[in-house]
Amino acid sequence: MRPARALIDLPALRHNYRLARQLAGGRALAVVKADAYGHGAVRCAQALGADAADGFAVACLEEALALRDGGIRAPILLLEGFFEAAELPLIAQHNLWCVVHSHWQIDALERTPLPRPLRVWLKLDSGMHRVGLSPADYRAGWERLVALPQVDSLVAMTHFARADELDSARTDEQAQAFIATVAGLPGEHSVSNSPGLLGWPTLRNDWGRAGLMLYGATPFNTVQAQASQLQPVMTLESKIISVRELAAGEPIGYGGSFVTDRPTRVGVVALGYADGYPQFAPTGTPVSIDGQASRLIGRVSMDMLTVDLTDLPAAGLGSQVELWGRQVPVTEVARHLNGSAYSLLCGLKRAPRVYVE
Ligand SMILES: *Cc1c(COP(=O)(O)O)cnc(C)c1O
Repeated sequence: MRPARALIDLPALRHNYRLARQLAGGRALAVVKADAYGHGAVRCAQALGADAADGFAVACLEEALALRDGGIRAPILLLEGFFEAAELPLIAQHNLWCVVHSHWQIDALERTPLPRPLRVWLKLDSGMHRVGLSPADYRAGWERLVALPQVDSLVAMTHFARADELDSARTDEQAQAFIATVAGLPGEHSVSNSPGLLGWPTLRNDWGRAGLMLYGATPFNTVQAQASQLQPVMTLESKIISVRELAAGEPIGYGGSFVTDRPTRVGVVALGYADGYPQFAPTGTPVSIDGQASRLIGRVSMDMLTVDLTDLPAAGLGSQVELWGRQVPVTEVARHLNGSAYSLLCGLKRAPRVYVE
């Protein structure tokens, strides 16, 4: 059997969720959109306890129905709400919570009778400028929703654009805009994503929304005390299936873009970009081989990649290679690519997931 696989550490997932809930000071939605950032939404939701988690959040109805099919009875929030009014009866029937982020959604709700009223999370655009009602429109939107028999209760929410930048003033500005806009409105509040929960303790309120941190990756570029308590959930790993001894001056792989600058022992790993490892990871990206630090060399192929064994004489055929996980933080790999841990984790493909209790 091909040795490429993604181990998913379920106790680590539960540990991270408990940390998120503790940091939230209230309750925390476990964000399992995009197939739980590549970790498998149904298995992860089940591992967090079909009823134990305060609730889950996904991007859309399709993702929520997959969780309901998997036996998840806890609340589920649709982070983008609905895309057309025809989804509303299903949303009500499956007892899903629904973000409303645009005027057209309020219009559609007004026109659509429902078998039971919805819990609506009304989103404020406090500065991200992607979706959400503007501060000037927010209270009028709230009043329209409160008046509808289709609406059972309202939660006020907003989303931070730069909470991962611990020295940026932007997050406090967004929080101030939120507080000023929702002042006096009854109901619960939700502002914090993972960097908000980890890095901005004064901004916590009723509901945290924890995504990346559940999977044990830090959203920050620097060491941060709370983030240091996270445990990586995914370990992407494979084995060395071939070893080459090359003289200095020899090209490796497609394009010959990497040329050895010393006599080099090259290990070929059975894992490539078709497994979700980034095709444009540069030479020097960290890997761990039998627990020892080494580096990627040469261009990543579809099914294989090459690593430097020159300084690891004990490593060879059959050695275990970790591409990211406990020894190589995924955020560290992302840094080498100018990418993000989010996109690396979501990009997992082909390599089968193996769940570890
Ligand atoms: C994806 C998402 C989150 C989770 O963000 P993380 O940074 O992964 O914690 C929270 N809130 C909203 C609205 C989202 O879309």
